[in-house]
Amino acid sequence: MTNQFSVRVDGIRFASAHFATFRGRCEPLHGHSYQVEAQVEGPLTADAWVIDFHELKALLRQAASEVEHKFMLQCKSPVLGIEELAAGWRVRTPAGLEYAFPAADVAALPIENTTAECLAQWFCTKVWGSLQKHSESKVKALFIEVWEGPGQKAGFRLTAEPG
Ligand SMILES: [Zn+2]
Repeated sequence: MTNQFSVRVDGIRFASAHFATFRGRCEPLHGHSYQVEAQVEGPLTADAWVIDFHELKALLRQAASEVEHKFMLQCKSPVLGIEELAAGWRVRTPAGLEYAFPAADVAALPIENTTAECLAQWFCTKVWGSLQKHSESKVKALFIEVWEGPGQKAGFRLTAEPG
């Protein structure tokens, strides 16, 4: 049995637009002032750290900067009609509305929906990948929570394979 410590950072904000789909329908286009926080679990390094707070915050900020002030497009949506054009994206909703987004305004995300759950999964996968590349890292678990607004958040957790 190994001791696991945890480190948590929060207060990373980003403002983005989206429309999530729900039961085959699409929300109107709108935005949120999101917040993201992360908890890392693992044993201590030789210097008695799990991970440097600043480093963890930097990884979150790096991911957040990819969606900041963008329209977040759920590229794997089973509901939206999505077409990638040379200049951007054309998105058709189930109700037949058509949107044309310039490429520079879109964060094309490999997720099924832009719910807080899927956004937490996207952040988690991204930050996890960066943590694995970190030489000192012995991180065993990463838990990311995305706040869509005050009092409502969703989370996703990734755990290292045993061994
Ligand atoms: Zn929303």
